[in-house]
Amino acid sequence: MAVPKRKKSKAKTAMRRAQWKLKMPGLSICPECGQPKAPHRVCSHCGYYKNKEVIEVV
Ligand SMILES: [Zn+2]
Repeated sequence: MAVPKRKKSKAKTAMRRAQWKLKMPGLSICPECGQPKAPHRVCSHCGYYKNKEVIEVV
């Protein structure tokens, strides 16, 4: 089995671990109410998904 030739330096490890928090969670705009919402989820503001009301929001 192939094995890394050298031990990763502390700097390289720190570089890799600095990456994980850079991206923001995905956000899309609800076409119904214009509020930001999580993609592929029912809008929590108006309860719409794919231009139909799926859940009732009080
Ligand atoms: Zn909405």
